[in-house]
Amino acid sequence: IVEVSDLHKSFGHLEVLKGIDLEVRRGEVVCIIGPSGSGKSTLLRCVNLLEEPNSGKVVVNGFELTDPDVDIDRARRTIGMVFQSFNLFGHLSVLDNLTVAQRKVLKRDKAEAERIALDNLAKVGLSDKAGAMPAQLSGGQQQRVAIARALSMNPAVMLFDEPTSALDPELVGDVLAVMRQLADEGMTMLVVTHEMQFAREVADTVLFMDGGVVVEQGSPNQVIGNPQQQRTRTFLARVL
Ligand code: ATP
Ligand code: MG
Repeated sequence: IVEVSDLHKSFGHLEVLKGIDLEVRRGEVVCIIGPSGSGKSTLLRCVNLLEEPNSGKVVVNGFELTDPDVDIDRARRTIGMVFQSFNLFGHLSVLDNLTVAQRKVLKRDKAEAERIALDNLAKVGLSDKAGAMPAQLSGGQQQRVAIARALSMNPAVMLFDEPTSALDPELVGDVLAVMRQLADEGMTMLVVTHEMQFAREVADTVLFMDGGVVVEQGSPNQVIGNPQQQRTRTFLARVL
């Protein structure tokens, strides 16, 4: 459902992605790990066309994003994205955060948008917070609202960029539990994470990136449990 081939991206003279190949099949969870600055966020942003690649091909849900004639708004609608910072609209209630894009972009009527929003709030364990303002929620709750908001758009694939790294340690578990549940339900997910335990238990495939290339990829048992490359071993020794 996500296919990236020979993706290159530079910022000025800095080549950040040096030919990335990546595939996520329907229902699969792919975790990307790697040191800071290795290009993980840039890769996710290219999958979403928040960044324009210099060359290579990105196909998501049948849309070739790198085709200049693609209907980018329609294509992007099939992609849910959750960032490190929760990016909720601070002046809107939780419920309104979940309904505004459904109504504007998907043209759902108010009742339907609210029904879907409440379903997704229940899914992330926050049914009682529909009327709250984002500032009244903990970081972990805000991140779960952000996940529920993305889900309300019925994405074909969810992209996560370090969704727990801005959270206090005691709040991380709740967010990971929601992500784990999504994975169990068969959601297709591409997740940049520093949570090795999560990657080990939930991922079908783990990619280790360093210096703008995929150094190693395979099952979690291969890449995290029995890495073949020295660079992977060095990284894991630091984070495990
Ligand atoms: P982290 O784990 O710290 O989030 P990362 O693997 O996500 O790191 P990226 O954010 O993709 O790394 O950044 C890769 C490199 O690209 C870094 O050297 C960064 O400074 C550079 N970079 C990212 N975005 C831009 C931009 N908009 N303009 C210029 N340079 C950028
Ligand atoms: Mg990043």
